[in-house]
Amino acid sequence: MTVPPADELPVLDASRCTGCGDCVAACPTRCLESSANGLPWLARPADCVSCAACAAVCPTTAIAMGTHLRIHNTTRI
Ligand code: SF4
Ligand code: SF4
Repeated sequence: MTVPPADELPVLDASRCTGCGDCVAACPTRCLESSANGLPWLARPADCVSCAACAAVCPTTAIAMGTHLRIHNTTRI
């Protein structure tokens, strides 16, 4: 697994997400949460350590690491 730059946060492609929750379970800092519709969101972005574990476990490759998310992190990953 490639370790992303420390300033990267997960970016969600909601069209690929099945709401399985694997990413939420895999996050070592518990900064992800499942929203009411099942999609994960970055509830505590300051706690994200950019480890990319969430992206690695996603069975549908719905998560990528990116830098632009910091602008949008009040919605969902
Ligand atoms: S990159 Fe790591 S710390 Fe950040 S949300 Fe994903 S699993 Fe959690
Ligand atoms: S692991 Fe992937 S498919 Fe499952 S909830 Fe997370 S983003 Fe969605």
